[in-house]
Amino acid sequence: MDFSEQLFERAKKHIPGGVNSPVRAFGSVGITPRFIERAHGDRIFDADGRNYIDFIGSWGPMILGHDHEDVAEAVAESIRDGLSFGAATEKEVLMAELICEIVPGIEMVRMVNSGTEAVMSAIRLARGFTGRNKIVKFDGCYHGHSDSLLVAAGSGLMTQGMPDSAGVPAGCTNDTLSAVYNDAESVRKLFGANPDEIACVIVEPVAANMGVVCPKEGFLQELRDLCSANGALLIFDEVITGFRLSLAGARGFYDIVPDLTTFGKIIGGGMPVGAYGGRREIMERVAPVGPVYQAGTLSGNPVAMTAGLAVLETLRDTPHFYEDLNAKGDRFFGEIGRIVAAAGVPAQVNHVGSLGSVFFAAEPVVDYVSAKKSDTARYADYFKYMLDNGIYLAPSQFEAMFLSAAHTEADLARTLDLIRAYVNAM
Ligand SMILES: *Cc1c(COP(=O)(O)O)cnc(C)c1O
Repeated sequence: MDFSEQLFERAKKHIPGGVNSPVRAFGSVGITPRFIERAHGDRIFDADGRNYIDFIGSWGPMILGHDHEDVAEAVAESIRDGLSFGAATEKEVLMAELICEIVPGIEMVRMVNSGTEAVMSAIRLARGFTGRNKIVKFDGCYHGHSDSLLVAAGSGLMTQGMPDSAGVPAGCTNDTLSAVYNDAESVRKLFGANPDEIACVIVEPVAANMGVVCPKEGFLQELRDLCSANGALLIFDEVITGFRLSLAGARGFYDIVPDLTTFGKIIGGGMPVGAYGGRREIMERVAPVGPVYQAGTLSGNPVAMTAGLAVLETLRDTPHFYEDLNAKGDRFFGEIGRIVAAAGVPAQVNHVGSLGSVFFAAEPVVDYVSAKKSDTARYADYFKYMLDNGIYLAPSQFEAMFLSAAHTEADLARTLDLIRAYVNAM
């Protein structure tokens, strides 16, 4: 037994499934997870001294690469001033000013501690602002684990949503309606069947939690128009896409302005941070100025703000950052597409900029139903091959690959060689 295996055995005794978040257990690829000791650049190092080229990047936050010097130094300095005060600090002001400066259309922002909290709060605010109860979400989009968003896929179309987890009362999902990603018509029908009842439509502008599924041309604009026409708020869940596709996230990349936006992941630079923001008239409904209650003992924590600020300032101040990163993504995922096409294997490569997925599916993946047709046993086999060869991919067919500024051309070339070897042997 290697040390990771020993740790996993011990972990399972006192932590459910041995992990603090389910996907880390490697359940869908059927092997023991690696325990990670440290990370630097585009590499992570496990408890057994092996290192891997990392395509998870902590599920997105490490867009600059691991252990970035400026971020690490800023955090170390901040820690010396104390860890938390439970009182207002200048860093929160700087963070709010920076977000409003770099994300057009956001006039006010509230900091929270996770993406889940950001989305849960934004939904409450949308309901409080519109005085309506129903919400629309898309099958296959993930918005954290709050009760009203844990809805079984496909269950809510024209009917009431069914909980997708034990412990969620049906009462919590009754008002959650499900729509089909990339199908604006399915949303139009829900508005037709529920006139003046829908508070908001929430969407991942690029879906990245069923593998990466790109929005079809015009889809996001149709959602914008439908929400405006029906008095509902459009919420972009930019927990993954925020500060990744462009400095202004997916809204900048696709030039669509939602009413509310949620952030997480990159905004904390690796610390537990989330945020939600939007127009002043909406955000001023939040307590203490408005009647929508939302609070947090550690919200806006000074060390977490320091990490997030250091990352966002670096992103803002690095010339051509997004041009370079997105071009790297276009080259890398474009090359994977050519490799699988040349090998003639049933695989689809979806990507936008530095986010991408390889689906072992015969048909294009455009929504949850087509994503679910992927061969997950094949993915598990591919995952193991890559891991054995020093490449750390998402341990599930339905998670994204994340590129960072720290991925070197040599490491990407090595990854492509391994993918070529794998698919040629398929
Ligand atoms: C990760 C994620 C969340 C949840 O964020 P946590 O910080 O894990 O609570 C919400 N929405 C999207 C789109 C995500 O990818």
